[in-house]
Amino acid sequence: MKTQSARPSERRRASDRPRISDDARGPDRRRAPDRPPNAADSAGTGTGLPDLSQYGRLAEYNRKRHFGVTPEPAGTPVQRPAGHPLEFVVQKHRARQLHYDFRLEHRGVMLSWAVPKGPSPDPAVKRLAMETEPHPMDYNQFEGVIPEGEYGGGTVMIWDKGVWAPIAPTGLGDEAEADRQLKKGDLKFVLLGEKLSGSWVLVRTRGTRQWLLIKHQDEYVRHEDVATTRPLSVVSGRTLAAIAEAAGASPRQLGDAVAADPPGAVTATSATRRRSTSKSADRQGTPRPRTRPAKR
Ligand code: MN
Repeated sequence: MKTQSARPSERRRASDRPRISDDARGPDRRRAPDRPPNAADSAGTGTGLPDLSQYGRLAEYNRKRHFGVTPEPAGTPVQRPAGHPLEFVVQKHRARQLHYDFRLEHRGVMLSWAVPKGPSPDPAVKRLAMETEPHPMDYNQFEGVIPEGEYGGGTVMIWDKGVWAPIAPTGLGDEAEADRQLKKGDLKFVLLGEKLSGSWVLVRTRGTRQWLLIKHQDEYVRHEDVATTRPLSVVSGRTLAAIAEAAGASPRQLGDAVAADPPGAVTATSATRRRSTSKSADRQGTPRPRTRPAKR
């Protein structure tokens, strides 16, 4: 299947916009009034010059979006101290097609894969995962509606979130270990989320962008389609339809969202929501794992 970036209308829109590299040179910045003026400089090196290597990792993300129109956050990489827990998030996204955006924090951005059928906790079920452009970490808090006509227009739900770590031969690995495994196209990792946990692997199968997401055997294996059995937002307890309605989706987007919820799915009541979210630790910042990995 095609990734969103391959859609002709978006290629056209992207090429109409100034490129980040031109923008950062100076004079052409006026051509991009909808981008935060200090976006390049905020990741500065202390030399007064924009840090293009940092900005570059979110250049594709920024190029595809009009931040004066979409409620999505503008892309600025963050610098976090080494050794902190790495965030992961899965966002259910009804764009032109329903898919689940699987995102892993790595070096200040969220590496992203679009998983059409969503992650499966059954090792027998391998799920196609198309690598997409890295997203800013602020995106982990985004739940709402991207307007029609914008890149990825449609409704977004925070379907799962938690922390992750690469698995090294001797225990949990660091970012350098993640770099090695990503380059090899064989990233083994552990998740601690509310719906997804345990050991997983992403294996690159073809070209540079096509991967498979596969669950490893462990105590977190389940033989059910969690995308269907656990369809609600982990932050708001809402269905996709409720998110669409609250965020002012168009009638067509609302219809798409309704159709993307499993039949009979209803938004959790405040009582059930309190019960289900009380298990997740800090809703504002980095979620803490409920159980610590054995080797840490
Ligand atoms: Mn998406």
